[in-house]
Amino acid sequence: MKLVLNGHDERYVVEQSLMNLLPGELPVYEPIQPGDDAWAIVSLSEAEGRCGVTVELSYRGQGAAQTVDAPLSGTDFDREGQRRHAIARCFFLAVQKAAGVTPPWGMLTGVRPDKPVTWALADGKTPEQARAMLENDYFVTPERASLALETGAAALAAQKKLGPRDIAVYVGIPFCPTRCAYCSFVSQSVERSFSLVPPYVDALVEEIRAGGAMVRERGLRVRALYMGGGTPTTLTAEQMDRVLTAFEDAFDTAFCEEITVEAGRPDTITAEKLAVLKAHGVTRVSVNPQTMEDHVLRAIGRHHTAGDIEAAMELVAKYGFPHVNMDLIAGLPEDTPEGFRRSLDRCLDFGTDNVTVHTLALKKGSRILLEGLAIPGPEAVGEMLDYAAPALRAAGYGPYYLYRQKYMSGSFENIGWCRPGAECWYNIYIMSELCSILSFGAGGSTKMVEPGTNHIQRVFNLKYPKEYTERPEKCLTNQAAFADFYKELGIRAEE
Ligand code: SF4
Repeated sequence: MKLVLNGHDERYVVEQSLMNLLPGELPVYEPIQPGDDAWAIVSLSEAEGRCGVTVELSYRGQGAAQTVDAPLSGTDFDREGQRRHAIARCFFLAVQKAAGVTPPWGMLTGVRPDKPVTWALADGKTPEQARAMLENDYFVTPERASLALETGAAALAAQKKLGPRDIAVYVGIPFCPTRCAYCSFVSQSVERSFSLVPPYVDALVEEIRAGGAMVRERGLRVRALYMGGGTPTTLTAEQMDRVLTAFEDAFDTAFCEEITVEAGRPDTITAEKLAVLKAHGVTRVSVNPQTMEDHVLRAIGRHHTAGDIEAAMELVAKYGFPHVNMDLIAGLPEDTPEGFRRSLDRCLDFGTDNVTVHTLALKKGSRILLEGLAIPGPEAVGEMLDYAAPALRAAGYGPYYLYRQKYMSGSFENIGWCRPGAECWYNIYIMSELCSILSFGAGGSTKMVEPGTNHIQRVFNLKYPKEYTERPEKCLTNQAAFADFYKELGIRAEE
């Protein structure tokens, strides 16, 4: 779509709205010519504490015009937000008129569409007022507004659990048995990079030791540990034991309420590894079949069957972990609404207290895009999700965290469902950015969150296992930045 911006240069706002409303329409900044049938002119003017936005557009033979007038007040930062909101709203309404589309999350384009709810509830608004805001100000559908109200309330509850010195720790194991068709993650297939694993574990253990010392010195409390990847259970039982022991030795675990380990691929789960996890007090394992349809498993590049998942689940059940999660994805290649329904029903039969339902997100570098694999359309994905929500509710689960990614089929969302009291708090902490996350391992992203504000800083570990292993100084620099962040916070708190 050709875009002409007058009186402003808010390309990002307009482009995000365009991607949300008309996925596949790329923004082009060229003069509009007679005969063009996809263009928009977005104009902004300001006078006497108000901004006026007008949008004229044409899309596939349908024209639309829209105006929005909004007051501007507060700091420069506030006014910038108000201006952007007015532009996004005006563009949304114009495209909606011309193209007749209403995405499920309305004009919310961010990763965490429940954030406005958490803020509103924290601000003393009632759930009804928060719902009205979502539906009237952001055009969110009633179904999605209900979801956001529940997950937004869970985020508020999580926020209340945390003190200013509470953090969470993430440990990344970037190895997998094979690469899934939808994955763009920098995970290395273990078959091809077997020799990288031992030095990686050595470097990881050293990084954890240094991090633990830094955290103790700064007087911070670890509330949750999450071991993800990749697939952590690609490590041997002995390697997992080393990593978990390093964590216990390095950190004061007295306040650590939960330890989650992703045992994503059933073909990596053994009794020996589960025994190690149990011995270290792991409170949750996550087995991630993504589908229970054998032909879909083959299509996504998994070298195991649904029968292997069942066997892995039986084994996991024997160890009596307090919580078990299973992940599914709606929209996988060769899946259908009926297939997804069968997968969900089979997962519910296992009786785990957590089920996470993802929507397929198309990622650059994934086999789906590189090889042009056929995937179900947005309507079919919508049908899958429409089945999932009531089925999960009927089985006693409620939504407790949600997030969105770019290029998700149908512009839907990922939702963590759990039975009451079975929340994985780490998932809420990270998705709602409630506390700092200190990340260890290749590709780790450490977030430093100033409590009660939107102030967040990030530092990143080196991406690839080899460079991570060979250049430990980068991790130490990141840990120094983390320590400085809290030093600075402490100084400010004393002022
Ligand atoms: S298990 Fe996860 S990280 Fe590993 S290849 Fe599959 S999607 Fe990627």
